[in-house]
Amino acid sequence: MQEFLPPRRLLLGPGPSLVHPRVLRAMATPLLGHLDPAFLTVMTDIQTLLREIFHTNNRFTIALSGTGSAGMEAAIVNVVEPGDAVVVGVNGVFGTRLATVVERCGGKAIRVEAPWGRIIETAAIEAALSRSGPVKAVALVHAETSTGARQPLDAVGALCRTHNALFIVDAVTSLAGIPVEVDAWGIDVCYSGTQKCLSCPPGLAPVTVSERALETITRRRTPCQSWYLDFSLIAAYWEEGSRAYHHTAPISMVYALREALRLVEEEGLPARFARHRLNSAALVAGLAALGFTLLPPAGRQLPMLTCVTVPSHIDDAVVRAQLLQAYGIEIGGGLGPLKGKVWRIGLMGESSTEANVLTLLNALEEIGIRSGWLSTPGVALQAAARAYSHTPLEKDGV
Ligand SMILES: *Cc1c(COP(=O)(O)O)cnc(C)c1O
Repeated sequence: MQEFLPPRRLLLGPGPSLVHPRVLRAMATPLLGHLDPAFLTVMTDIQTLLREIFHTNNRFTIALSGTGSAGMEAAIVNVVEPGDAVVVGVNGVFGTRLATVVERCGGKAIRVEAPWGRIIETAAIEAALSRSGPVKAVALVHAETSTGARQPLDAVGALCRTHNALFIVDAVTSLAGIPVEVDAWGIDVCYSGTQKCLSCPPGLAPVTVSERALETITRRRTPCQSWYLDFSLIAAYWEEGSRAYHHTAPISMVYALREALRLVEEEGLPARFARHRLNSAALVAGLAALGFTLLPPAGRQLPMLTCVTVPSHIDDAVVRAQLLQAYGIEIGGGLGPLKGKVWRIGLMGESSTEANVLTLLNALEEIGIRSGWLSTPGVALQAAARAYSHTPLEKDGV
């Protein structure tokens, strides 16, 4: 067998996103033992940086081994015991999954549903809490990557406290792309993933847990059904001063995350959020000029994941295949009921640049000209350029 050399790709799908060369370089640095004092300082650095981007003082703030889904599984398996009721917002793939995981833990998922693309109204969550008996937790997806909808969270934490429920939030796609205010919003368990707006390869799941949730977990009647993801055991490895062996940390991934978090810190969260907003506004303007319409209603759209309905003159699968094969551009198709109907374009972390937006729109225009559905070349680029025109040309680089 020969060396594997991946084809050049512009990753503009729902994840993974492009990774900064500094992060790739960090992954190639020599290994340390996972209990080496030098490695323990790397872990402490990660905890410090994660607390900053989660906006939390939570002592238990760690990077769990595994992708975003491991974060989801850990959040549920630690909190939910057999028979526990959990109110779950279901308006896309990831809410659906949360409900499934609750049921696999022997819990009762009380689904509060909304059409895909819509948000879960706070009033509907309140109604579910009021008509149900004791509820252990409310679980919501902040950025529903399957639909591009941005779930408001700020009023739910207080509701959870009134009903003595924990508040669990999936921030896999939102973290480092839009504000995630763990303490201010009263979130008890928040998990993310490295491969979306953190622009680090998939492999770790940042997780933060409130003292209130830790107390609930400590009082469990039954041991956590997962040994690998048991927070009470993992705490012994991440707790400064104890650092006892639980499982071997994925050393290179931890190096990568430290570097990715340093890049986030260097840019600064406000600038990073503004960059995501600007590039998404330009992309949306360009796509609108080509006849695409946004799936989520106005004001509910995510800047890092644009979900658009594909107009009837465009063949979903054919054009996505052309983008990949002729231009090396990856975008995402629709999932579940949205299969064949929408595109999911990710401008996450390193992928969110003006150059990438213009490259994608340019490729779409050329495909449109060659396929005969675009008669006025330049409309998308003009619309995007107008969105950028009030800001000076950025030095982008990929
Ligand atoms: C991507 C994603 C996940 C799962 O993350 P993986 O890294 O694929 O395991 C969970 N929730 C949301 C909202 C996501 O976008």
